[in-house]
Amino acid sequence: MSPPKDVYTWRANWIKPYESPWSIFEKFKIANEVLDLDIIRKFGIDEVKNLRVIRPSHYDLVKMFSLNEQLIKDVFGIDLVQRNRKNLDELIRLLPQDHLLGVVSPWESVYLREKLYFCVQCLEQGYHSIFHQFKLLHHCPFHNKKLIQCCPECGSEYDYSLSNKMFDSPFICSCGHEYCQINQDQLFYDSWNQPQEHYNTLPPELLQWLTLTNHQKSRLKKMYFIPQTDFEKHPNSLINFLTVTNKANNIPGHNFVESSKSIKTIRSFEEKKFAFKYSKKGDFSNLNEFYIKKARFDILQKEFYQNYKRIIAGVSKHIRQTILAEHKSCLYELKNFKGRGPICSYAYAYIAWRRTIQNFDHFSLVDNMGRPKRLNKPIFEFPSSAYFLYDLYDQWNNQIDDITLSSRAATKWLLNRILDQFLLKWFDNWLQHSKEFISEGIMPAVPQFEDKYPLFIAVFSNESNEELEFHWWDDKREYNELACPFSNNK
Ligand SMILES: [Zn+2]
Ligand SMILES: [Zn+2]
Ligand SMILES: [Zn+2]
Repeated sequence: MSPPKDVYTWRANWIKPYESPWSIFEKFKIANEVLDLDIIRKFGIDEVKNLRVIRPSHYDLVKMFSLNEQLIKDVFGIDLVQRNRKNLDELIRLLPQDHLLGVVSPWESVYLREKLYFCVQCLEQGYHSIFHQFKLLHHCPFHNKKLIQCCPECGSEYDYSLSNKMFDSPFICSCGHEYCQINQDQLFYDSWNQPQEHYNTLPPELLQWLTLTNHQKSRLKKMYFIPQTDFEKHPNSLINFLTVTNKANNIPGHNFVESSKSIKTIRSFEEKKFAFKYSKKGDFSNLNEFYIKKARFDILQKEFYQNYKRIIAGVSKHIRQTILAEHKSCLYELKNFKGRGPICSYAYAYIAWRRTIQNFDHFSLVDNMGRPKRLNKPIFEFPSSAYFLYDLYDQWNNQIDDITLSSRAATKWLLNRILDQFLLKWFDNWLQHSKEFISEGIMPAVPQFEDKYPLFIAVFSNESNEELEFHWWDDKREYNELACPFSNNK
């Protein structure tokens, strides 16, 4: 039996604009001296509230599926579940999600943080915002302070959850660190009663995000980025999305190219030749459709492999002529390496990179007449570390009737730009880690890099007369700290 309403201390005006359900419940816990488990027992849906064991997933604050909307409304004066749904919808529902489905689960986790991120100044007032959980924002929109995710004293992290294992009591870390500066009962009630107008004023980019036009929203739907992109590593992600949404082109550090509108109708000489060969007038008019399709796929695969090799050759040449310009003799030394002696980090990164993206059996084969290992499968060959390209291929293959009849010009246009960015980033990763691999004396075949993916946004749709767009951002690379053991020889 649930206790009558007036047992609880609560006032609807304690809930501030954009406040997250997390801090609303923390306030409720303080004011009523209850624990997370009490909240589930009191406000849970029937299937959950009486369970003997309440699991961590029952404390979820994104979907809030364990909580009974009506019971909450009766006490809090507001339906927190619906309010949360509406707030999150405004924030993330417009972002691209189709290409995340089946690849990242749940798709929301691409945009929402699972750990609690917070602004120290906000927490002092017992306030936490859903904006703090939004991965495209890295600073508090109200104080412009960098958001943090661990205790300044003990370094503990907290889950964004109704249950706070790492909190001793609301707003107090298990190490004793007090986040909320209001601790006397009378004072915190007073403070929460204040209107606190600053929570209504949003910075311009966030305001723009919440008030996008229909045209901007429709552009967002057509965007593609690597599903595994970690927005935590890209400090300007919200502005980046806005830039693409507005097709703005005068932002420093932003690069942008677009194809011609007719790209999807361009047919190469090869495609025309093939179409004729298998047409009614051609040599193979009596073959059945299955074999013709298979033949078309074989040709497509070959063409894409040639294209892939061309892109690698181009990026390799670029790297050799820029970052490696001073290390030509180091490359020579490494290719003839007999297991002893110093190794240049730049040469190592280049050779290791080429070996992994192109599947060479041994590093001495790179740029040395060696033949890469080929996959013997009816799929496209991509760098073995670029799994996302297989996902992209699957999605694209599922969208159209016959991949062999789709526009190769358009596919190559997009694929080549994606490959360029990926290959450069992958080289960067090797370069950053070359020193440690050398000192450990290993050349891993498929190393796990923490941040492997570049940030880019492609814009495309199925419309036959629409151009393709590709946007990417300058990545500040710093290589200076890498010493070359042969630098005195030059
Ligand atoms: Zn703040
Ligand atoms: Zn602590
Ligand atoms: Zn060198």
